[in-house]
Amino acid sequence: MKLKLIFAALFGLTFLPSYAQQQAAPDQIETKKGPLLIQPVQHASLVLTWDGKTIYVDPTGGATAYAGIAEPDLILITDIHGDHMDPKTLDALKTDDAVLVAPQAVADQLPAKYKKQVVVLDNGKSATQLGIPISAIPMYNLPETTDAMHPKGRGNGYILDLGGKRIYIAGDTEGTPEMRNLKNIDVAFVPMNLPYTMDVEQAASAVLDFKPKVVYPYHYRGQSGLSDIATFKKLVNDKNKSIDVRLRAWYPEQ
Ligand code: ZN
Repeated sequence: MKLKLIFAALFGLTFLPSYAQQQAAPDQIETKKGPLLIQPVQHASLVLTWDGKTIYVDPTGGATAYAGIAEPDLILITDIHGDHMDPKTLDALKTDDAVLVAPQAVADQLPAKYKKQVVVLDNGKSATQLGIPISAIPMYNLPETTDAMHPKGRGNGYILDLGGKRIYIAGDTEGTPEMRNLKNIDVAFVPMNLPYTMDVEQAASAVLDFKPKVVYPYHYRGQSGLSDIATFKKLVNDKNKSIDVRLRAWYPEQ
């Protein structure tokens, strides 16, 4: 019996891609079209692998951060800041064949050689790329001011539909009405770091409003170190136990 279990464990493992040591272990979520693998890379950077497609979100960290991960078919960029749009990492990876989805402000600032592969999505717009429906959701600071670090209209959060599972990548935002009013989100990536986005209390309040089935705190390194994501989890689960709050190693160097 024991041997059988060990054999099953080994057999199962052979189907998982081999990721470099410093990366957090990927999570797996079932969809109507097979498993979705969720790989935290660092801070705002993550990789989704689904239906034979590899999707990079805000790739940063150079080629070493992606060791062992397939090259991207689709790259989503949320905003112009270096922790989201990083031409050096785009150059270091094999990105020539990838479709790049970005807001206009990012498209304007990317090196000229990427222009032909960029699909611009504005806030509120949707497109289907590689058979994946993608919607751009506003991301911004509150109160809305033109001199905010993230003024409304510049950057994009994204919702992807992967085999019937709706994945929301919030980007650098506070708990906006657009976030709080989202429906039927299966997996959400929500930032919490001051002074760039919001504190854990506001993040928890927003998450309790839109009730994703699974939520990952990400983008949580702020000016005074890492935010207290354990408190975020407690604030969410004290009021709603059914939201699966997943704490992962987004800062492998720390
Ligand atoms: Zn950021």
